[in-house]
Amino acid sequence: MGKLATDLFELSTHILKDALQKARRKEPVDGEYLNFLHNGKPSVLDYSIEYCFDGNTYLVVNFNAEPQKIPLFHRELTFGTRTYLVCGCGNKTNALFLKLGYFACRTCQGLRYRSSAINPRSDHGMMLYMQEKRIQVITEREKLSRIMYRSRYTKPFLRWLKLANRVGFFKETVAAQNTMEMIKEYQSQKNLSRAVN
Ligand SMILES: [Zn+2]
Repeated sequence: MGKLATDLFELSTHILKDALQKARRKEPVDGEYLNFLHNGKPSVLDYSIEYCFDGNTYLVVNFNAEPQKIPLFHRELTFGTRTYLVCGCGNKTNALFLKLGYFACRTCQGLRYRSSAINPRSDHGMMLYMQEKRIQVITEREKLSRIMYRSRYTKPFLRWLKLANRVGFFKETVAAQNTMEMIKEYQSQKNLSRAVN
């Protein structure tokens, strides 16, 4: 079984959020550091941002050995700019993983997601697999900020509901259906009383 992604320190664009924001504005970032656990030991990684004359921007990380220069890639999106970390293989990603003192993307480090590392064909594997999926579904649900808009369920919530149903959360599906029916009934009664008046 290969190493699981969650076992390794993950240098993500999320934890580097502030530094990357400064990088987009070409502001100096120097002598910053991150504390993390590496093989169970408290470790420190320091980092800075380097702006090159050729226009490229690098995140320079220092961990025990030689500093590693990680190119940054800015992508313009309709709602703003997003910055990715570029792996040595050219992959633009949200996270690089530390293995043998070197940061690289999930594929280069040969990592798999937890649920794909479990064989769902055996009974025990299936149970673990479902459990992983359920945890994922619960986490997704916590991320949804609004589930209704103008007496209708939002698209992300409907998508979530489908997933929930797939992992056996039937209660949620039934509750959602009941709510929709109540709203419909309420609205039709309102329309009815409006028609009478
Ligand atoms: Zn890679």
